[in-house]
Amino acid sequence: MKDILSAIQPTGDMHFGNYFGAVKNWVDLQDKYSCAFGVVDYHAITMPTNYQKLRNNTWELIFNLLAVGVNAENLFIQSLIPEHTELSWILSCFSSYGQMTRMTQFKDKSAKSKEETKDSFISAGLFNYPILQSADILLYRPKFVPVGKDQEQHLELTRNIAQRFNSLVGKEYFRLPEILFTETPKIRSTANPEIKMSKSAGEKHYISVFAEESRLRKQIRSAVTDTGRTNDGDMSQGVKNLFELLKASGQTEAYKSLLQDFENSSLKYVDLKDAVADGLLKMTRAFIEKRKEIAANKKNVKNQIKQSSWEIRKIAQETIKNVKDLTGLINVRF
Ligand code: ADP
Repeated sequence: MKDILSAIQPTGDMHFGNYFGAVKNWVDLQDKYSCAFGVVDYHAITMPTNYQKLRNNTWELIFNLLAVGVNAENLFIQSLIPEHTELSWILSCFSSYGQMTRMTQFKDKSAKSKEETKDSFISAGLFNYPILQSADILLYRPKFVPVGKDQEQHLELTRNIAQRFNSLVGKEYFRLPEILFTETPKIRSTANPEIKMSKSAGEKHYISVFAEESRLRKQIRSAVTDTGRTNDGDMSQGVKNLFELLKASGQTEAYKSLLQDFENSSLKYVDLKDAVADGLLKMTRAFIEKRKEIAANKKNVKNQIKQSSWEIRKIAQETIKNVKDLTGLINVRF
Protein backbone atom coordinates (compact mmCIF):
# COMPACT_ATOMS: atom_id res chain seq x y z
CA MET A 1 0.00 0.00 0.00
CA LYS A 2 1.00 3.60 -0.49
CA ASP A 3 -0.01 6.51 1.77
CA ILE A 4 -0.27 8.94 -1.10
CA LEU A 5 -1.21 8.61 -4.76
CA SER A 6 -1.61 11.23 -7.42
CA ALA A 7 -1.13 11.62 -11.15
CA ILE A 8 -0.79 13.99 -14.07
CA GLN A 9 -1.60 13.65 -17.77
CA PRO A 10 1.14 14.02 -20.40
CA THR A 11 -0.99 16.32 -22.53
CA GLY A 12 1.43 19.26 -22.66
CA ASP A 13 3.84 21.26 -20.53
CA MET A 14 3.52 21.26 -16.76
CA HIS A 15 1.97 24.61 -15.84
CA PHE A 16 1.71 26.68 -12.66
CA GLY A 17 -1.78 25.29 -11.98
CA ASN A 18 -0.40 21.76 -11.92
CA TYR A 19 2.58 22.86 -9.85
CA PHE A 20 0.89 25.01 -7.22
CA GLY A 21 -2.29 22.91 -7.18
CA ALA A 22 -0.73 19.47 -6.91
CA VAL A 23 2.91 18.79 -7.75
CA LYS A 24 4.36 21.13 -5.11
CA ASN A 25 2.43 19.10 -2.54
CA TRP A 26 3.88 15.89 -3.97
CA VAL A 27 7.39 17.20 -3.40
CA ASP A 28 6.56 18.36 0.14
CA LEU A 29 4.79 15.14 1.13
CA GLN A 30 7.26 12.60 -0.21
CA ASP A 31 9.68 12.95 2.71
CA LYS A 32 6.99 12.08 5.23
CA TYR A 33 4.89 9.46 3.43
CA SER A 34 5.26 6.57 1.03
CA CYS A 35 4.13 7.98 -2.30
CA ALA A 36 3.47 7.01 -5.89
CA PHE A 37 2.97 9.58 -8.62
CA GLY A 38 1.89 8.57 -12.09
CA VAL A 39 2.24 10.03 -15.54
CA VAL A 40 -1.07 8.79 -16.84
CA ASP A 41 -0.69 8.35 -20.58
CA TYR A 42 -3.87 6.26 -21.00
CA HIS A 43 -5.78 9.41 -20.02
CA ALA A 44 -4.03 11.42 -22.71
CA ILE A 45 -5.72 9.40 -25.47
CA THR A 46 -9.29 9.98 -24.27
CA MET A 47 -9.42 12.87 -26.75
CA PRO A 48 -7.80 12.88 -30.19
CA THR A 49 -4.19 13.92 -29.75
CA ASN A 50 -0.91 13.94 -31.61
CA TYR A 51 -0.19 10.24 -31.14
CA GLN A 52 3.29 10.53 -32.66
CA LYS A 53 4.21 13.00 -29.93
CA LEU A 54 2.63 11.27 -26.96
CA ARG A 55 5.58 9.05 -26.04
CA ASN A 56 7.92 12.02 -26.12
CA ASN A 57 5.47 14.11 -24.04
CA THR A 58 5.38 11.37 -21.41
CA TRP A 59 9.16 11.39 -21.06
CA GLU A 60 9.33 15.18 -21.10
CA LEU A 61 6.81 15.33 -18.27
CA ILE A 62 8.84 12.78 -16.31
CA PHE A 63 11.95 14.97 -16.77
CA ASN A 64 10.00 18.04 -15.65
CA LEU A 65 8.64 16.31 -12.56
CA LEU A 66 12.15 15.26 -11.60
CA ALA A 67 13.41 18.79 -12.21
CA VAL A 68 10.93 20.30 -9.73
CA GLY A 69 11.96 17.78 -7.09
CA VAL A 70 9.80 14.64 -7.35
CA ASN A 71 11.94 11.61 -6.47
CA ALA A 72 12.52 9.10 -9.27
CA GLU A 73 11.61 6.12 -7.09
CA ASN A 74 8.12 7.55 -6.58
CA LEU A 75 7.37 7.99 -10.28
CA PHE A 76 5.68 5.53 -12.61
CA ILE A 77 4.27 5.49 -16.11
CA GLN A 78 0.69 4.27 -16.20
CA SER A 79 0.88 2.25 -19.41
CA LEU A 80 3.79 0.22 -18.01
CA ILE A 81 1.43 -1.12 -15.36
CA PRO A 82 -1.39 -3.01 -17.13
CA GLU A 83 -3.21 -3.54 -13.83
CA HIS A 84 -4.56 0.03 -14.17
CA THR A 85 -6.77 -0.93 -17.11
CA GLU A 86 -7.56 -4.30 -15.61
CA LEU A 87 -8.87 -2.78 -12.38
CA SER A 88 -10.67 -0.10 -14.37
CA TRP A 89 -12.88 -2.73 -16.04
CA ILE A 90 -13.66 -4.42 -12.75
CA LEU A 91 -14.48 -1.10 -11.07
CA SER A 92 -16.67 -0.03 -13.98
CA CYS A 93 -18.98 -2.83 -12.86
CA PHE A 94 -19.21 -1.13 -9.45
CA SER A 95 -19.73 2.39 -10.84
CA SER A 96 -23.06 4.13 -11.09
CA TYR A 97 -23.95 5.06 -14.67
CA GLY A 98 -26.18 7.86 -13.33
CA GLN A 99 -23.32 9.35 -11.31
CA MET A 100 -21.00 9.10 -14.32
CA THR A 101 -23.41 11.16 -16.42
CA ARG A 102 -23.10 13.98 -13.87
CA MET A 103 -19.31 14.38 -14.17
CA THR A 104 -18.73 18.03 -15.02
CA GLN A 105 -15.29 17.44 -16.56
CA PHE A 106 -16.85 15.08 -19.08
CA LYS A 107 -19.45 17.69 -19.96
CA ASP A 108 -16.84 20.46 -20.24
CA LYS A 109 -14.34 18.42 -22.21
CA SER A 110 -16.90 16.97 -24.61
CA ALA A 111 -18.41 20.41 -25.25
CA LYS A 112 -14.96 21.83 -25.90
CA SER A 113 -14.02 18.97 -28.19
CA LYS A 114 -17.21 19.41 -30.24
CA GLU A 115 -16.62 23.13 -30.54
CA GLU A 116 -12.96 22.81 -31.55
CA THR A 117 -13.15 19.89 -33.93
CA LYS A 118 -16.62 20.68 -35.32
CA ASP A 119 -17.13 16.94 -34.93
CA SER A 120 -19.77 15.40 -32.71
CA PHE A 121 -17.62 12.33 -32.03
CA ILE A 122 -16.97 11.86 -28.31
CA SER A 123 -15.09 8.74 -27.22
CA ALA A 124 -16.47 6.33 -24.66
CA GLY A 125 -12.95 6.58 -23.18
CA LEU A 126 -13.60 10.21 -22.25
CA PHE A 127 -16.82 9.17 -20.56
CA ASN A 128 -15.12 6.30 -18.71
CA TYR A 129 -11.97 8.09 -17.70
CA PRO A 130 -13.09 8.92 -14.14
CA ILE A 131 -13.33 5.14 -13.58
CA LEU A 132 -9.80 4.66 -14.88
CA GLN A 133 -8.79 7.46 -12.53
CA SER A 134 -10.50 5.65 -9.65
CA ALA A 135 -8.53 2.55 -10.59
CA ASP A 136 -5.30 4.60 -10.70
CA ILE A 137 -5.96 5.59 -7.12
CA LEU A 138 -7.50 2.47 -5.57
CA LEU A 139 -4.85 0.17 -7.05
CA TYR A 140 -2.48 1.53 -4.40
CA ARG A 141 -5.08 1.80 -1.60
CA PRO A 142 -3.79 5.22 -0.49
CA LYS A 143 -4.99 7.33 2.41
CA PHE A 144 -4.55 10.69 0.68
CA VAL A 145 -4.78 12.05 -2.84
CA PRO A 146 -3.16 15.47 -3.32
CA VAL A 147 -4.92 17.08 -6.31
CA GLY A 148 -6.41 20.39 -7.40
CA LYS A 149 -9.98 21.53 -6.78
CA ASP A 150 -11.07 20.34 -10.25
CA GLN A 151 -10.67 16.74 -9.11
CA GLU A 152 -13.07 16.95 -6.16
CA GLN A 153 -16.00 15.37 -8.00
CA HIS A 154 -13.83 12.56 -9.35
CA LEU A 155 -12.52 11.79 -5.90
CA GLU A 156 -16.06 11.62 -4.59
CA LEU A 157 -16.81 9.09 -7.35
CA THR A 158 -13.72 7.09 -6.34
CA ARG A 159 -14.93 6.93 -2.77
CA ASN A 160 -18.39 5.85 -3.89
CA ILE A 161 -16.94 3.10 -6.08
CA ALA A 162 -14.75 1.89 -3.22
CA GLN A 163 -17.72 1.89 -0.84
CA ARG A 164 -19.91 -0.04 -3.26
CA PHE A 165 -17.15 -2.55 -3.92
CA ASN A 166 -16.51 -3.08 -0.19
CA SER A 167 -20.20 -3.43 0.51
CA LEU A 168 -20.93 -5.90 -2.33
CA VAL A 169 -17.93 -8.16 -1.69
CA GLY A 170 -18.50 -7.98 2.06
CA LYS A 171 -15.06 -6.74 3.07
CA GLU A 172 -13.63 -3.30 3.87
CA TYR A 173 -10.89 -3.86 1.32
CA PHE A 174 -10.38 -0.42 -0.19
CA ARG A 175 -9.58 2.50 2.09
CA LEU A 176 -11.68 5.54 1.26
CA PRO A 177 -9.05 8.03 0.08
CA GLU A 178 -9.17 11.62 1.28
CA ILE A 179 -8.45 14.62 -0.90
CA LEU A 180 -5.55 16.93 0.02
CA PHE A 181 -5.46 20.51 -1.26
CA THR A 182 -2.68 23.06 -1.29
CA GLU A 183 -3.32 26.70 -0.36
CA THR A 184 -3.94 27.32 -4.06
CA PRO A 185 -6.21 24.49 -5.20
CA LYS A 186 -7.41 26.41 -8.24
CA ILE A 187 -5.12 28.58 -10.35
CA ARG A 188 -7.00 30.34 -13.13
CA SER A 189 -6.11 30.94 -16.74
CA THR A 190 -4.51 34.38 -17.00
CA ALA A 191 -6.06 34.76 -20.47
CA ASN A 192 -9.54 33.96 -19.16
CA PRO A 193 -9.87 33.93 -15.36
CA GLU A 194 -13.34 32.42 -15.70
CA ILE A 195 -11.72 29.04 -16.36
CA LYS A 196 -8.92 27.12 -14.64
CA MET A 197 -5.40 27.16 -15.98
CA SER A 198 -5.22 23.97 -18.02
CA LYS A 199 -3.16 22.18 -20.62
CA SER A 200 -6.32 20.69 -22.00
CA ALA A 201 -7.87 24.14 -22.54
CA GLY A 202 -5.25 25.19 -25.10
CA GLU A 203 -1.91 27.03 -25.21
CA LYS A 204 -2.97 30.50 -24.15
CA HIS A 205 -4.68 29.10 -21.07
CA TYR A 206 -1.58 27.91 -19.32
CA ILE A 207 1.86 29.19 -18.40
CA SER A 208 4.56 26.56 -18.46
CA VAL A 209 6.76 26.21 -15.39
CA PHE A 210 9.65 25.91 -17.86
CA ALA A 211 8.67 28.86 -20.05
CA GLU A 212 11.40 31.14 -21.34
CA GLU A 213 11.63 34.43 -19.48
CA SER A 214 10.34 36.54 -22.38
CA ARG A 215 7.31 34.31 -22.95
CA LEU A 216 6.47 34.14 -19.26
CA ARG A 217 6.69 37.92 -18.87
CA LYS A 218 4.55 38.42 -21.96
CA GLN A 219 1.88 36.03 -20.71
CA ILE A 220 1.76 37.63 -17.26
CA ARG A 221 1.79 41.15 -18.73
CA SER A 222 -1.26 40.31 -20.83
CA ALA A 223 -3.17 38.76 -17.91
CA VAL A 224 -6.80 39.87 -17.77
CA THR A 225 -7.37 42.08 -14.71
CA ASP A 226 -10.65 43.84 -15.68
CA THR A 227 -11.26 46.84 -13.55
CA GLY A 228 -9.76 45.19 -10.49
CA ARG A 229 -12.94 45.17 -8.48
CA THR A 230 -16.29 43.56 -9.13
CA ASN A 231 -19.49 45.60 -8.80
CA ASP A 232 -19.75 44.82 -5.11
CA GLY A 233 -16.19 46.03 -4.52
CA ASP A 234 -14.46 42.64 -4.28
CA MET A 235 -11.27 41.82 -6.08
CA SER A 236 -11.90 40.44 -9.58
CA GLN A 237 -10.95 36.81 -10.32
CA GLY A 238 -8.10 37.89 -12.59
CA VAL A 239 -6.48 40.10 -9.94
CA LYS A 240 -7.08 37.54 -7.20
CA ASN A 241 -5.36 34.96 -9.39
CA LEU A 242 -2.28 37.17 -9.78
CA PHE A 243 -2.10 37.70 -6.02
CA GLU A 244 -2.35 33.94 -5.48
CA LEU A 245 0.47 33.33 -7.93
CA LEU A 246 2.58 35.96 -6.16
CA LYS A 247 2.00 34.43 -2.75
CA ALA A 248 2.53 30.87 -3.99
CA SER A 249 5.86 31.85 -5.55
CA GLY A 250 7.07 32.80 -2.05
CA GLN A 251 7.10 36.60 -2.46
CA THR A 252 5.42 37.31 0.87
CA GLU A 253 6.73 40.86 1.29
CA ALA A 254 5.74 41.96 -2.20
CA TYR A 255 2.40 40.25 -1.71
CA LYS A 256 1.65 42.15 1.50
CA SER A 257 2.75 45.49 0.15
CA LEU A 258 0.87 45.22 -3.15
CA LEU A 259 -2.22 44.02 -1.33
CA GLN A 260 -1.98 47.13 0.80
CA ASP A 261 -1.85 49.20 -2.40
CA PHE A 262 -4.94 47.42 -3.65
CA GLU A 263 -6.78 48.20 -0.42
CA ASN A 264 -5.76 51.86 -0.79
CA SER A 265 -6.84 51.85 -4.44
CA SER A 266 -3.32 52.85 -5.46
CA LEU A 267 -2.29 49.54 -7.05
CA LYS A 268 -0.87 49.73 -10.56
CA TYR A 269 -1.56 46.41 -12.26
CA VAL A 270 1.67 46.58 -14.15
CA ASP A 271 3.54 46.54 -10.82
CA LEU A 272 1.56 43.53 -9.66
CA LYS A 273 2.23 41.74 -12.95
CA ASP A 274 5.95 42.48 -12.85
CA ALA A 275 6.18 41.27 -9.26
CA VAL A 276 4.40 38.02 -10.22
CA ALA A 277 6.69 37.45 -13.21
CA ASP A 278 9.79 38.19 -11.06
CA GLY A 279 8.59 35.83 -8.33
CA LEU A 280 7.81 32.98 -10.70
CA LEU A 281 11.09 33.36 -12.58
CA LYS A 282 13.07 33.43 -9.36
CA MET A 283 11.39 30.23 -8.25
CA THR A 284 11.84 28.38 -11.54
CA ARG A 285 15.52 29.24 -12.05
CA ALA A 286 16.64 26.20 -10.05
CA PHE A 287 14.12 23.95 -11.85
CA ILE A 288 15.44 25.02 -15.23
CA GLU A 289 19.03 24.32 -14.19
CA LYS A 290 18.10 20.87 -12.90
CA ARG A 291 16.17 20.23 -16.11
CA LYS A 292 19.36 20.82 -18.11
CA GLU A 293 21.25 18.26 -16.00
CA ILE A 294 18.51 15.72 -16.58
CA ALA A 295 18.53 16.40 -20.32
CA ALA A 296 22.19 15.40 -20.39
CA ASN A 297 21.39 12.12 -18.71
CA LYS A 298 18.18 10.99 -20.39
CA LYS A 299 19.05 7.36 -20.95
CA ASN A 300 19.85 6.68 -17.30
CA VAL A 301 16.78 8.56 -16.16
CA LYS A 302 14.52 6.53 -18.44
CA ASN A 303 15.98 3.30 -17.08
CA GLN A 304 15.45 4.54 -13.54
CA ILE A 305 11.77 5.25 -14.25
CA LYS A 306 11.24 1.87 -15.91
CA GLN A 307 12.72 0.31 -12.78
CA SER A 308 10.58 2.38 -10.40
CA SER A 309 7.46 1.54 -12.44
CA TRP A 310 8.39 -2.11 -12.11
CA GLU A 311 8.77 -1.77 -8.32
CA ILE A 312 5.51 0.15 -7.95
CA ARG A 313 3.75 -2.43 -10.15
CA LYS A 314 4.25 -5.04 -7.43
CA ILE A 315 1.64 -3.27 -5.30
CA ALA A 316 -0.73 -3.13 -8.26
CA GLN A 317 -0.30 -6.86 -8.87
CA GLU A 318 -1.04 -7.60 -5.24
CA THR A 319 -4.23 -5.52 -5.37
CA ILE A 320 -5.44 -7.21 -8.55
CA LYS A 321 -4.84 -10.61 -6.99
CA ASN A 322 -6.88 -9.62 -3.93
CA VAL A 323 -9.64 -8.05 -6.03
CA LYS A 324 -9.91 -11.19 -8.17
CA ASP A 325 -10.16 -13.31 -5.04
CA LEU A 326 -12.85 -11.04 -3.62
CA THR A 327 -14.89 -11.01 -6.83
CA GLY A 328 -14.58 -14.68 -7.78
CA LEU A 329 -12.44 -14.15 -10.86
CA ILE A 330 -9.90 -16.85 -11.67
CA ASN A 331 -6.35 -16.31 -10.40
CA VAL A 332 -3.60 -18.32 -12.05
CA ARG A 333 0.12 -17.63 -12.06
CA PHE A 334 1.38 -18.38 -15.57
P1 ADP B 1 -4.73 19.66 -16.97
O1 ADP B 1 -6.08 20.09 -16.49
O2 ADP B 1 -3.81 20.80 -17.17
O3 ADP B 1 -4.80 18.72 -18.17
P2 ADP B 1 -4.17 17.34 -15.26
O4 ADP B 1 -5.56 16.84 -15.48
O5 ADP B 1 -3.05 16.53 -15.81
O6 ADP B 1 -4.04 18.85 -15.79
O7 ADP B 1 -3.96 17.56 -13.70
C1 ADP B 1 -2.80 17.23 -12.94
C2 ADP B 1 -2.96 17.76 -11.53
O8 ADP B 1 -2.92 19.20 -11.54
C3 ADP B 1 -4.32 17.39 -10.89
O9 ADP B 1 -4.10 17.11 -9.52
C4 ADP B 1 -5.13 18.63 -11.04
O10 ADP B 1 -6.13 18.73 -10.05
C5 ADP B 1 -4.08 19.71 -10.88
N1 ADP B 1 -4.47 20.92 -11.59
C6 ADP B 1 -4.68 21.05 -12.92
N2 ADP B 1 -4.99 22.31 -13.24
C7 ADP B 1 -5.00 23.01 -12.07
C8 ADP B 1 -5.26 24.38 -11.73
N3 ADP B 1 -5.55 25.25 -12.67
N4 ADP B 1 -5.18 24.75 -10.44
C9 ADP B 1 -4.87 23.85 -9.48
N5 ADP B 1 -4.62 22.55 -9.72
C10 ADP B 1 -4.67 22.12 -11.00
